[in-house]
Amino acid sequence: MMSDHTKERSMMEHPSRRSFLGMSSVALATAALVGLTANAQEKASTQKAEHDHSSSDPGQENKPLLAENPNSNNPPPTDHGDVVPLWYSFDLVKKRVEEGGWTHEVTQRELPSSKDIAGVNMRLTAGSYREMHWHTADEWAYVLYGNARVTVMNPDGTMFIGDVSEGDLWIFPAGFPHSIQGLAPDGTEFLLVFPQGMFSEDGTMLLSEWMAHTPPEVLAKNMGVDQNTIAQFPTEALYIFPGDLPNSLQQDKAEIGGEQVASKYQYTFHMKSMEPTRSSTGGEVRIVDSSNFPVSKHIAAGLVTLKPGGLRELHWHPHSSEWQFYIAGKGRMTVFFPVDNARTVDFNANDIGYVPSNAPHYIENTGDTDLVFLETLASDQFLDVSLNQWLRRVPSEMLKAHLKIDRATAMKIPADKLIVI
Ligand code: MN
Ligand code: MN
Repeated sequence: MMSDHTKERSMMEHPSRRSFLGMSSVALATAALVGLTANAQEKASTQKAEHDHSSSDPGQENKPLLAENPNSNNPPPTDHGDVVPLWYSFDLVKKRVEEGGWTHEVTQRELPSSKDIAGVNMRLTAGSYREMHWHTADEWAYVLYGNARVTVMNPDGTMFIGDVSEGDLWIFPAGFPHSIQGLAPDGTEFLLVFPQGMFSEDGTMLLSEWMAHTPPEVLAKNMGVDQNTIAQFPTEALYIFPGDLPNSLQQDKAEIGGEQVASKYQYTFHMKSMEPTRSSTGGEVRIVDSSNFPVSKHIAAGLVTLKPGGLRELHWHPHSSEWQFYIAGKGRMTVFFPVDNARTVDFNANDIGYVPSNAPHYIENTGDTDLVFLETLASDQFLDVSLNQWLRRVPSEMLKAHLKIDRATAMKIPADKLIVI
């Protein structure tokens, strides 16, 4: 017999299955299997199996995990074969906790299919620093909570200092030295996205480590200070460490030399509070790439909000894979990939999704609250192709030949790229 849990779950999600259950399995099998191709036969037999003893699971189940991932565990019958891993969660990776905050990351090591993008989630308490450092990949960040002050120096010596709050983003170009500090009242938490699958926050160039690995007499000669000063330097990495709250932004800008040393590039952007790029009754999307934020040369991103029942329309990205971070709500995504493969996975807040380059997909809000997520692409441009738009741009005879849709019906398909439906 089905466990009560399984029964309850399938009824809740698929009320239409009640009527299905009423049919005898012989009648269902006969109706389903006549004249079908092998693949459709398999689909039908999967559908049938879901409603008889075949789907019973008398052994162990991790019920909280199952409840959060119903489609991942019992895929819709349209799923087939194996697609590369599409899902991971920050809640499965260890936190590196230091005085002042913590960090953890999901990279190609955890999600091997994501070769183009890695992500980090970090917390800094009020006053605490992510130490002065740089690294080999651009850093794209989205503030999830609180307030922070960021600094970044251009190679010409001009300096950017700015404050960010929830919903803002920043960019630090590869190799440009930078810092992050938590502000009042309770510091910050943020997401970092790097266009490099094997990136690791543990492998960055730290000011403290560099100093500890350079002969002190060379440091003294380079900086023009005496060796007693060098002897005060930390001998181990600072990485994340507590500090006092900084002066006001205005005071800090003035102290370092004001307009004379100010960067002519802006490295922060108010993403959440910008006008939606597109909105509909199903939700809205805000897109930030090099066209509206010129320093964003290697990451393009969409902040998508889907109302309950809303759909991020069927689409694909022509020249980049996609790395998603789920901020709030519940959703599911199906990714199709040839030959004959499709996989559906569920998402909850703090989960990560991956879509291979060119693989078509949709994302559906399956919860009763807004689904909010970031779609990031390792690209300077946010490019996507809409299925609906494509279907409406071909001559109606062509569409009829492929999908048996007559012209009158075809006119019901949205002719514009809506992004959210
Ligand atoms: Mn960094
Ligand atoms: Mn997408």
